Parts: sequence; C-alpha cells; structure tokens
Amino acid sequence: MADVPTDSLLHQRFPELADTLPYLRLGTAPTPIRPLDVGTGVRLWCKDDSAYGDGGWGGNKVRKLEWLLPEAHRRGARTILTVGGTGTNWGLATALYGRAHGIGTVLALVDQPVDEHVRAQLERLANSGATLHFTHTKRQTLLRAPWLYLRHTLGRKRPYFLPVGGSSPIGALGYVEGALELAAQIDAGILAEPSHIVTAVGSGGTAAGLALGLRLAGLRTRVIGVVVNDSLPLDAAHIIGLAQRAERLLRSRGARFAPTGLRPADVTMTTDWLGPGYGHPTPAAAAAANRAAHDGLRLEPVYTAKALAALLHLDTTGEFGTGPVLFLNTYGPR
Ligand SMILES: *Cc1c(COP(=O)(O)O)cnc(C)c1O
Repeated sequence: MADVPTDSLLHQRFPELADTLPYLRLGTAPTPIRPLDVGTGVRLWCKDDSAYGDGGWGGNKVRKLEWLLPEAHRRGARTILTVGGTGTNWGLATALYGRAHGIGTVLALVDQPVDEHVRAQLERLANSGATLHFTHTKRQTLLRAPWLYLRHTLGRKRPYFLPVGGSSPIGALGYVEGALELAAQIDAGILAEPSHIVTAVGSGGTAAGLALGLRLAGLRTRVIGVVVNDSLPLDAAHIIGLAQRAERLLRSRGARFAPTGLRPADVTMTTDWLGPGYGHPTPAAAAAANRAAHDGLRLEPVYTAKALAALLHLDTTGEFGTGPVLFLNTYGPR
C-alpha cells in the first residue's frame, strides 16, 4: 500500500480523541472537486470519492473503514461479520481492506436483482478472501445471524458485527471526516459553500455523517438524501437519529463540544427515485447515468445514477435556489 498520511481532520479538531478513537488513513485526501456539466441550470459540482482508497476498491465505504478497521483491532476482533446484497460494495470494500490490515470478513448475502453489474461484483466478492454465506432473504439472514456469529467466534475472539453498509455510529464518522475535508476545500477557495449536497442513501451512514460533519464545520449546506433502499427505514428521523448517536459517540470518547442540536428537519430525504425497489433499474437513472457519462463520470444503476436522477429533477423545480449544488460520487470501481 502507498505511504499515506495517518492524520485525520477530526483528530485535528478534537485532539482529545487521538488515543480513544483510532484512525487509519486508507486513501489520499482531499478527494477532487470539479464542476459537473450534465446540462442543468444550476451551478453543479462533483466531489469525487470514486478514487478514494488504495486497496483495489474505492468510494464511500473506504471512509467508513478508516474508523471501523481500527475499532475492530481495538476490540481485539479478528473478523468482521456483516451483511449486504449480492452486489454489496460495502462487503467488497470490507473484505479487501480488512485483508490488507489483518481482519477477516464474513458476509451474509441477501439476493438482489441480478444484472451484469451484480454478476461482476459477485465475481470480485468470490476473489476477495471473504467467507460468503448466501442467506437469500432478510428473514433468513436474521434467523441465521446468531449461528454465524458463534460459528465465527474463535475462542474468546468474537467477530465485530456491523450493520448493512457499515452504518454504525463509528462508520458514520467516515463522512464526518468527509464533511470536514469539504469545509477545508471551501476555505481554500475551491468552491463556494454549497447550498445543498446530494448523495445516494443505501444504509444512511453517509448522509448521517455528512449532516453531523457539516454542522461541526459550521457550514449551512443542506443534505439531500436520495433513498435507494426500501428494506430499511431511511427517513429523516432515522438519519438524524444515527447522526445523534455518532455525536454521542464522539462525546463518550472524550470530544468536548456544544450540542449540535441536529433535528430531522435539517435534512431532506426523498424516496421518489427508488423505482420498484433496491437494485431495480429505472429509466430516470439510466438517463442520468448517460448524461453523466458525457462529462466523463461513471455511475452505476443501484445508487449514484438514482441520486443524479433526483438532482436533475429537483433542479428544474427551483428547489436549489442559486446553488452551488454538490453531487457526491460514492462509487469506486477499479
Ligand atoms: C453504499 C453506497 C452508497 C450509500 O451509502 P450509505 O452510507 O450506505 O447510505 C452510495 N453509493 C454507493 C456506490 C454505495 O456503494
């Protein structure tokens, strides 16, 4: 792996966390921000996290693992046990980065609509070193989870169980860090403070982390979350609930700061672009991916294309005012 700096902006902000909340830099920051031309009337920028990470896969899950892998070590765990769809980017990133840092990965996989994109991902998962259990349905996964937990317990070493998408309070810190990084880029004059940041929402950790991090950074940028998953509650109350748990975690590890007062009204979640369900293609997403491709941005059908479809539509309704609007590219294929 490349020699990358290990400091985090969150640690710089709260030096009291240095010994209680370990961090492992896995990519090169800051990630690039560039104007995005997809034919909208609004000033549109893209923060491109696709190349973040140096372990054979990129995107938003790498930022979560920067906090979760050291936490696994802190707990003395040798494996992470987690769940995802058969095309899970989260499971793949965990397997690849875990393997590089001494943590095994056990995945319970739930069926999702199979297309070329999912087939390619399953192939990568099969070669990732992770132990795969095909549990097919959410119900079967819940029923078998205790058995998987025991089966992968080695003596007194228990697996570190993580929810779908790595969206625990610690996982959410990935985009608290991401938001502090964005604030530094705004300070450096790379772009004006965005009125909105638009991201896909699959398990909520990215949106929750952004909401908390933007607030800690003193930015007024509003998070618009485009929900792409119908199997989890991902309304504003749940997203802010996760952000509040992350805030409490920071305090419980020793960070001192005034309560942020985050409320559900501080974020906007929309389910209008989900279509028939998680992983089901929609014409609007296909059209959005096509427009993005014209400006050299590669999106996938499950998350990012639906998020851009929402953005393109919201633009025409005047929701964004004068902008600028920032699109977060969370997808990191290699
Ligand atoms: C997981 C994922 C998301 C959603 O992030 P969450 O933190 O799970 O809401 C968005 N885009 C891509 C490409 C992802 O893999």
